[in-house]
Amino acid sequence: MSKTHEPPQDNDDVLSHGASDEFSGGTDKADTPSLTEVFALLKGHMVVGVDLHTHRFLYVNAALQSMLGYTEAELLAMNVWDVFEEPYKSQVKTSVAEGLKTLGQVNSLVLKATRKPGDSIWLEAYVSSVPFRGKIARIANYINVTEAITLKERMDQQLASFYSALDAMPTPVVIAKETFQYANPAAIAWSGYSQAELAQRKVWDLIVVTDDLRHRMGKNMARRLRGESFLGEYPRIEVKLKDGTPRWVHIVTRTLWHQNSWVDLMILTDITDSVIAEQRMARERERYRELSELDPLTHIYNRRLFDNQLADMIQAAVARHRQLTLVMIDIDHFKRVNDEFGHETGDYVLQELAKVVLADLRPTDIFARYGGEEFMIIVPDISSINVKALAERLRLRIASHDFKIGQKITVSMGITELKPGDTTTRMVHRVDDALYDAKHGGRNRIVVG
Ligand code: GH3
Ligand code: MG
Ligand code: MG
Repeated sequence: MSKTHEPPQDNDDVLSHGASDEFSGGTDKADTPSLTEVFALLKGHMVVGVDLHTHRFLYVNAALQSMLGYTEAELLAMNVWDVFEEPYKSQVKTSVAEGLKTLGQVNSLVLKATRKPGDSIWLEAYVSSVPFRGKIARIANYINVTEAITLKERMDQQLASFYSALDAMPTPVVIAKETFQYANPAAIAWSGYSQAELAQRKVWDLIVVTDDLRHRMGKNMARRLRGESFLGEYPRIEVKLKDGTPRWVHIVTRTLWHQNSWVDLMILTDITDSVIAEQRMARERERYRELSELDPLTHIYNRRLFDNQLADMIQAAVARHRQLTLVMIDIDHFKRVNDEFGHETGDYVLQELAKVVLADLRPTDIFARYGGEEFMIIVPDISSINVKALAERLRLRIASHDFKIGQKITVSMGITELKPGDTTTRMVHRVDDALYDAKHGGRNRIVVG
């Protein structure tokens, strides 16, 4: 970095006065200090190091002597570059050689010097080439920047150890700012993507989620990138690896101020195995529920479910003063079907009948296989008159249904509604009695009990 400016015109004058270290006394014009006075002050008190040099130091001020730890006499016996460490020593040599050729150049350099006591110091030097006694000399100002440079070195070191810690972590860790800025070896091995491939991908591209989650994560990331620091946790995110394999991860994210901007540090834990195990367990649970609630032949509810459901629905209806009706269906002369066509055909008739009935029910009605060829329907919220109409419709539908056995199938039904003080047993007894009456009344009919 170099720039050109007009060299100060006073330099020759000031230097040729050879002012002493001591304050040389006031002048008559009390408010206007002479150049000699100013120089004397600067020479003794300036905190910026100053020298005049060609190849050698011609002048060094007190500040520079104290910065370098050498006496004036020692420095004046040295080449300018002697105090600097390589590679700065060579830089200074070149800079001096160049600088002594042309006037008006101002160079700035950051240099590392060895002080006389043996320790190091960082100096930022501004050097200009000036006319001196008919030739060119150089005036340099030195500012001690050791603290700033050391701080930067320490930060670089910290950053390096931060990265080596992440590199050594067995868990996938990424740093993202929309795209991935860093991925540790564990993340690279796990994802199948290279560092360069990840650098071009947005975080969202790898996530298989609903638009809603994508939106939420995007919003949180935007908040973080604006500098809001909060811990984010996504317990179950589905991602796709490079080869397309779906995996489940638990992600913890944290905002970091990193290389002059806010970024998202994400720690990933692959939870695929436990998610798969969980899904398997959920499927098993569902299967057990079906086994315990459904009838394997007709796939409608079984007796066990019916008993529980009727108890619950009686309670709910009583509490809410609602109606509840129970319908019992029994196939007429079903023994004959078995005898004539075989048990398998009998099974088929049971399945077919369940379908016919189910097709006519509301989702709130509970339809169950109660026993061999006996079925129950719990109908909530409708008066028994309307339920009788429903039962009548069902009876006709069954009687006219083609069961493809070359013979009609009819059913008898009992109906009863919820009465004060009812229990499941009482209701079932009543409906069973009504059904018995229907059978004795000649079958293919409905009796309300
Ligand atoms: P009713 O008109 O008086 O009801 O005459 P029914 O022949 O239907 O007499 P009942 O209800 O007493 O007989 C039920 C018959 O249903 C007895 C049994 O052989 C048959 N059954 C019970 N469960 C099954 C089953 O799961 N599959 C088959 N195929 N038949 C069954
Ligand atoms: Mg029966
Ligand atoms: Mg029967």
